[in-house]
Amino acid sequence: MSDLAKPKSKPVQAVEDEAEEVEKKPEPQMCEVCGNSYDKTFQIITTRDGNESHHVFDSFECAVHALAPRCVHCGCMILGHGVEADGQMYCCAHCARTLGRRDLRDRAG
Ligand SMILES: [Zn+2]
Ligand SMILES: [Zn+2]
Repeated sequence: MSDLAKPKSKPVQAVEDEAEEVEKKPEPQMCEVCGNSYDKTFQIITTRDGNESHHVFDSFECAVHALAPRCVHCGCMILGHGVEADGQMYCCAHCARTLGRRDLRDRAG
């Protein structure tokens, strides 16, 4: 009793791209700080300790908020070169000296 109900030749599904073709235009990306998605976001790639990380922002303000190092003395965001000593960041040589780092000069120098 060969009861192999042969599946009738399946209607060949037209394998047309079911997923409607994705629009080619660059999709707006979302700022990782404020969540705003808009078409003029930009990416920043940081390399720290050899690790790359990609960030998307809609404004420099958001980028600064997320990425700018903070002075360990006064807590302000460091937007310039800053001063680095033993892995600590200071906004300026004055802050570094205040915490006992002598003989430091701004890296811009
Ligand atoms: Zn933002
Ligand atoms: Zn400072």
